[in-house]
Amino acid sequence: LVRLRSRLSRSQNSLGKGLLTLLSRERLDEDTWEEVEDTLITADVGVAPTQELVERLRTRVRVLGTRTPEELRALLREELVALVDPTLDRTLHTDSHEESPGVVLVVGVNGTGKTTTTGKLARVLVADGHSVVLGAADTFRAAAADQLQTWGERVGARTVRGPEGGDPASIAFDAVKEGIAQGADTVLIDTAGRLHTKTGLMDELGKVKRVVEKHGPVDEVLLVLDATTGQNGLVQARVFAEVVDITGIVLTKLDGTAKGGIVVAVQRELGVPVKLIGLGEGADDLAPFEPGAFVDALIG
Ligand code: GDP
Repeated sequence: LVRLRSRLSRSQNSLGKGLLTLLSRERLDEDTWEEVEDTLITADVGVAPTQELVERLRTRVRVLGTRTPEELRALLREELVALVDPTLDRTLHTDSHEESPGVVLVVGVNGTGKTTTTGKLARVLVADGHSVVLGAADTFRAAAADQLQTWGERVGARTVRGPEGGDPASIAFDAVKEGIAQGADTVLIDTAGRLHTKTGLMDELGKVKRVVEKHGPVDEVLLVLDATTGQNGLVQARVFAEVVDITGIVLTKLDGTAKGGIVVAVQRELGVPVKLIGLGEGADDLAPFEPGAFVDALIG
């Protein structure tokens, strides 16, 4: 928790504290509630969830009458945790099947942190005793395969790659084949995120998935979104969700933004949980998303 708190951007921290300060005012008048609303909307929570939250807070504060700082903190914590929905199943499915490894497709727009996330995830899995094979199916961005291979060498995972501009599906296929040959537990496949045409993306991602499924099931399709892009991330999420069944969201760069509310917005939009969060560029800066810990880090 201490690490999470120090990693979340300072502005993110001040979001939680700002809300607490507002709620601690002697008189909670209309203006104050509007400020609460503005604070949440500025943090990208989204209009509908914000209004629901403010409504619940108003009612509960009224029922509570006089409020001690401890009561307010507990109240706000409870409501924020409810907002990020602690009931969603955030289990990451990476375990192997009888005849094939667990397969994780990492998808998203280029620049969101896909390759970095794939590398960090490999590191976490290897540290947990899993054997991992990496598939460099992002053949669009020239340096992506090198970057992934560097991660692989660092953590001790073999990287399957192809020629630059090569066919992503065939690399993905080869990566899973290699995973089977090695008896690996998990194959992580970094894909290209070209968004210029939806049909292009659909063709490519759809093909990657279909081809991989010739070996066995795809267990996770993780959509990587850059938290600093705010509402734009939501638009991306919508497009990807139309193309492929997303099983989990990775929200990166939460260390660099006050817009952590996007967690709420994107989960509502897709009906899919945020499973992992990126908190920096370093190898250790990937964490499972835990609503309670996240909110605690927010409100300090
Ligand atoms: P890709 O094109 O989606 O594969 O993106 P990359 O993995 O190459 O990441 C793009 C940039 O974002 C790189 O400079 C990464 O170091 C950086 N990055 C990735 N994740 C995070 C994160 O959680 N926090 C911060 N601050 N930077 C990140």
